[in-house]
Amino acid sequence: RKEREAAERALPAQTRDGHVIEIAANVNRPDQVAAALADGAEGVGLMRTEFLFLERDHAPDEEEQFEVYQGMLEALGGRPLIVRTLDIGGDKQVPHLNLPHEENPFLGVRGARLLLRRPDLLEPQLRALYRAAKSGHPLSIMFPMITSLKEVITLRAICERIRAELDAPSVALGIMVEVPAVAALADRLAEHVDFFSIGTNDLTQYVLAIDRQHPELAAEADSLHPAVLRLIQQTVNGAALHQRWVGVCGGLAGDPFGAALLVGLGVSELSMSPRDVAAVKARLRSSSQSSLVDLAARALDCDSAEAVRALEGELA
Ligand code: PEP
Ligand code: MG
Repeated sequence: RKEREAAERALPAQTRDGHVIEIAANVNRPDQVAAALADGAEGVGLMRTEFLFLERDHAPDEEEQFEVYQGMLEALGGRPLIVRTLDIGGDKQVPHLNLPHEENPFLGVRGARLLLRRPDLLEPQLRALYRAAKSGHPLSIMFPMITSLKEVITLRAICERIRAELDAPSVALGIMVEVPAVAALADRLAEHVDFFSIGTNDLTQYVLAIDRQHPELAAEADSLHPAVLRLIQQTVNGAALHQRWVGVCGGLAGDPFGAALLVGLGVSELSMSPRDVAAVKARLRSSSQSSLVDLAARALDCDSAEAVRALEGELA
């Protein structure tokens, strides 16, 4: 039985009608890659680089980061790696960075907002990434907590300067869709990014105005809420205007029913905790893309997360 399970995990997430979805893992360290691949992941769709800064008392320098990214690419052996630049602020605090106290950190200087104010953090990370890209392995860079086109244009310009300085190859540059403004303006932003990766954890908290860690309310921050699904649909539609792909790396991607809905909405890559890979693949392999498109249409027409969840029973 174990052997059969392992063989099934290794199969692609191909729907009954032949549509293939890319299944990647959310991973933090090179030593987690082998296990993620054994669990059936086809690459890394989100490397959270915060861990490099969190479990220590000083920031890692360019050289140390280069070795981590390079090690990760080697462990992946030619499979894709998407590295997210440092996403500090909000729920992720790093004492040794001595950042000013904020009354409302989820609405404050976090993610890309911090990086744009702190070239001492952004530039060594980008240099390490472009140096790793010279290995020829497939590497993409993604920016967290983007809110505006201006941020994207500024970050792209910094990347291009660093790429040229290092004589490195160009790297696909994507953005996280976590702020509702970005989903709503996806048609305008798409021209300026190579891909979108939807962070449903933060997107849900910002759409519903519920702190994702709130002891009383967090359970109500349900990513199946139709308001969240409509913004995902808007992102997919905006991206399609410019032939950009859309992935999801938030928690909804690792929920088999959520994953089925996301595929129905037109998402083409799902990145999740390695332990969720097998169940998500099995769910998608037993569905047809056309039935998932119908499912998604019905979900978009619901008026609550509960009503969307109730559609699960109808899924073949
Ligand atoms: C998200 O917000 O959905 C996401 C993937 O980022 P994180 O959970 O690291 O904030
Ligand atoms: Mg997030």
